[in-house]
Amino acid sequence: MNIRENVPIAELTTMRLGGPARYVIEIEEDKDLAEAYHFAQDKNLPTYILGSGSNVIGRDGGFDGVILVNRLRGIYVIDSDQTSIRLCAKSGELLDDLVEYSVKLWNGEGFGYSGIEALSKVPGTVGAMPVQNVGAYGQEAKQVLHSVCVYDCRDNCFKHMMADELDLGYRHSIFNTGDGVGRYFITSVTVELRKTQLTPPFYTSLQAYLDEREITDYSPQVIRDAVAAIRASKLPDPAVEASAGSFFKNVYLNETEAKAAEAKGIPVWDGGKVPSGWLIEQAGLKGKDYFGMRVSEKAALVLINDHAKSYSDLAQAREAIVSAVFEKYGYRLEQEPMEIGEA
Ligand SMILES: Cc1cc2nc3c(=O)[nH]c(=O)nc-3n(C[C@H](O)[C@H](O)[C@H](O)COP(=O)(O)OP(=O)(O)OC[C@H]3O[C@@H](n4cnc5c(N)ncnc54)[C@H](O)[C@@H]3O)c2cc1C
Repeated sequence: MNIRENVPIAELTTMRLGGPARYVIEIEEDKDLAEAYHFAQDKNLPTYILGSGSNVIGRDGGFDGVILVNRLRGIYVIDSDQTSIRLCAKSGELLDDLVEYSVKLWNGEGFGYSGIEALSKVPGTVGAMPVQNVGAYGQEAKQVLHSVCVYDCRDNCFKHMMADELDLGYRHSIFNTGDGVGRYFITSVTVELRKTQLTPPFYTSLQAYLDEREITDYSPQVIRDAVAAIRASKLPDPAVEASAGSFFKNVYLNETEAKAAEAKGIPVWDGGKVPSGWLIEQAGLKGKDYFGMRVSEKAALVLINDHAKSYSDLAQAREAIVSAVFEKYGYRLEQEPMEIGEA
């Protein structure tokens, strides 16, 4: 087991901020988990699980504990029938690699299974997918998740959990709420995909992309390519420009609030969702720089770390954006990425 000391969280996360973690352990096999949790329990230190760090922000004081970095690898076909297939991926695989694998599989009549093709190019690992019920372009993890295997560090054992035990909702699951936070290390994820194609109407920007190019082939590979092209045109590659998450969650309104919003000309999708990117853009913040953090010109929900020196720069930038939107619209935006360590 590879144990490193005093590793800057900035090196482990795509926003590239954050002081040192006291210990970092790379989890390469399931059996490393018992040993790693033992190590932390022996020293009476807290643990934090990291995939590729694209939805987590490190704080300046670092983390006086043990960060477990997920390096579990492997993708397997579990079973298939006339209409569907079950794929199991070890949780350290990149989600995009699982998508690629699924769209290239021969299904008996053609290539590709449908269910996660619209999640193409979402940064991060398979293990993080159930944590916030990853979603993009009309698909979300909840629609395809069959089950997960986890290491439960409270009971010190491996468990198998079915999708309906995970309380999956918008950016929500048992893994990021209540006493489930930090308790389960997801070691593998099984998804059930279908031998079908998506049918229109698609998510607005995907539909527009397909219409403009008169594309009527909706095979998983074609949808994957379309989503990849749309994302490349407006979202930063975190390997090139430091950023995390969508920085803000969308705003969810009840029926009365939604009617009031619509009467003011605010877009409300799916009965209650106000796109935070729209609010930020309308508040005139696109391209603005606050304390070294820049609101992306292409996608207002993305906050890019151009030259912020610390978490405290980010906190001030966040407050400036939240206040500007609150003053204009009365909605208080909430940050999506979780935080590690002391401020
Ligand atoms: C440019 C950009 C675009 C993005 N677009 C989208 C998008 O379209 N849709 C979307 O939903 N998200 C999006 N995100 C957010 C991010 O891609 C997802 O949240 C992704 O699932 C994070 O994966 P990760 O491996 O980097 O997780 P991390 O950031 O490392 O961890 C995220 C959380 O999950 C927990 N976790 C990670 N692995 C495990 C595990 N094995 N077991 C238990 N807990 C675990 C961590 O403790 C942490 O709380 C985007 C991020 C960026 C930077």
